Amino acid sequence: MDAAPAGTDLEGTAVVIGGGISGLLAAREFARAGVRTTVLEASEAWGGCVGNHAVAGLTLDSGAESFATRTAAVADLAAELGLAGEIVAPNPGGAWVQLPDGPRELPKTGVLGIPASPWDPEVRRSLGLLGSLRASIDAVLPASLGTGAEATSVSALVRRRMGSRVLDRLVAPVVGGVHSADPSVLDVDMVAPGLRAGIRQHGSLAAAVAAQRRGAAGATAGPAGPAKAQSAGLQKAGSAVAGLRGGMHTLVAALLADLRQRGVTLLNGTPARSVQRTADGWRVATDQATFDAGRLVVAVEGPAAVGLLEETLPELAGLRSDAGPDVSLVTLVVDLPALDTAPRGTGVLVAPQSPGVQAKALTHATAKWAWLAERTGPGRHVLRLSYGRAAAPGATPESGGGGAAAAPRSEEELFRAALADASALLGVSVSAADVAGWDVVRWAGALPFASLGHRQRVAAVRSICAADGTLAVVGGWLSGNGLAAIVADTPRQVRTLLS
Ligand SMILES: Cc1cc2nc3c(=O)[nH]c(=O)nc-3n(C[C@H](O)[C@H](O)[C@H](O)COP(=O)(O)OP(=O)(O)OC[C@H]3O[C@@H](n4cnc5c(N)ncnc54)[C@H](O)[C@@H]3O)c2cc1C
Repeated sequence: MDAAPAGTDLEGTAVVIGGGISGLLAAREFARAGVRTTVLEASEAWGGCVGNHAVAGLTLDSGAESFATRTAAVADLAAELGLAGEIVAPNPGGAWVQLPDGPRELPKTGVLGIPASPWDPEVRRSLGLLGSLRASIDAVLPASLGTGAEATSVSALVRRRMGSRVLDRLVAPVVGGVHSADPSVLDVDMVAPGLRAGIRQHGSLAAAVAAQRRGAAGATAGPAGPAKAQSAGLQKAGSAVAGLRGGMHTLVAALLADLRQRGVTLLNGTPARSVQRTADGWRVATDQATFDAGRLVVAVEGPAAVGLLEETLPELAGLRSDAGPDVSLVTLVVDLPALDTAPRGTGVLVAPQSPGVQAKALTHATAKWAWLAERTGPGRHVLRLSYGRAAAPGATPESGGGGAAAAPRSEEELFRAALADASALLGVSVSAADVAGWDVVRWAGALPFASLGHRQRVAAVRSICAADGTLAVVGGWLSGNGLAAIVADTPRQVRTLLS
């Protein structure tokens, strides 16, 4: 089967493997350029990690539930798809952090937990006087410290500039919650792009964080972008993230409608089994058919992408990325009026050393998103607990760094752990009798973390794939995890391919 009608030159055709957000965006870029495009998705569901599930009669996000507003990329895409009016800010109350010595409000002015001001009262409460003092030394350190050419982990940068209390009490819980990894294994340039450049520009880490926060407000409030139609609340809050009324999965539904309207062929339940270079393009084999096209975009997880391409491009074999940690999400819909007051704001991030809690984060979704609370009504709440994080090298579960190995396994075990953890983290007893519905979603290796040297590996992968001008690889494993990075990167890659 050709991605073009029989007898047509393959030049104007493309196959995209993977129907996650990156694959759908790649297809959209091709279709906009008039390229006849087919998307092959292995599972029945579209959207990959931007999925949905039904729990107690509610349709909820089963993976991503928000997007970073450090740039306007996702807001602009949503606006292009007619969703500008659906962009919403989370409740400004913010989240909490569970520390070994108890819960604290998480300072709202940070990037990845790194504070914009060490003397902000919330920061001071979390760090203590000595911790804030040490963090404020950042302002007098040379701007070159931590901004050299060497690959720098999040922990190396934060420890050098602001000290270990900021790292342990603010950054590790946020990084664990967002990236399911220890800050010592994460490449700071991938998870906080522009931050090191910001230190050179503004003189200190705190100033760079403050500038990024101002940028987040500006990016979503700018009069030029289509995102201007979104709620005034989001602009005022300068929130680091935003969501969509109805859930992030509505973005996938809108993208699919857009692709259908543009005539893209969408084939779900159709895993690509092999990829071959042909004289005039690429041949992709599935269980049912083969697809020939002039251009190919591979938009699947890193190890799977290398697996598909290494026969044709053996140089890729050594660049296979590590799979991310396995993450399990337990969603509880509970009838508990005691939660109407949102006792821990929008949720709780758990510091790795916190005793007695297995979850790495709890999102109180009905406290975070007003639209969801309107749907459930008072007394009914949606709680989402996540399990599994990649440890620091050499860490053991006992040392507090290896949550994944200690994580509960069966659905029933996860459910029981979620009840115990929700009770501990919210300070409100949550029992099985309060539960109106629950679900477990497992994401195997779906959060590839940007480990040290990631940038160089990505550059190497991309240059090998780009060599003959007909192949591109896209997705979170290359652009950096998260919708903001993928939405900015994917169209760029396809445009390069088309040019
Ligand atoms: C639990 C969870 C919560 C998250 N929360 C957020 C959040 O709140 N905000 C945020 O910005 N980001 C979040 N992320 C990250 C974000 O969702 C991902 O970075 C992003 O969705 C990845 O998109 P992708 O297209 O690169 O890959 P994926 O979504 O993994 O899509 C890849 C697709 O390829 C398909 N595929 C694989 N092999 C084949 C094959 N051989 N043939 C055909 N198809 C194949 C897969 O079935 C899948 O659909 C979260 C991720 C997870 C797992």
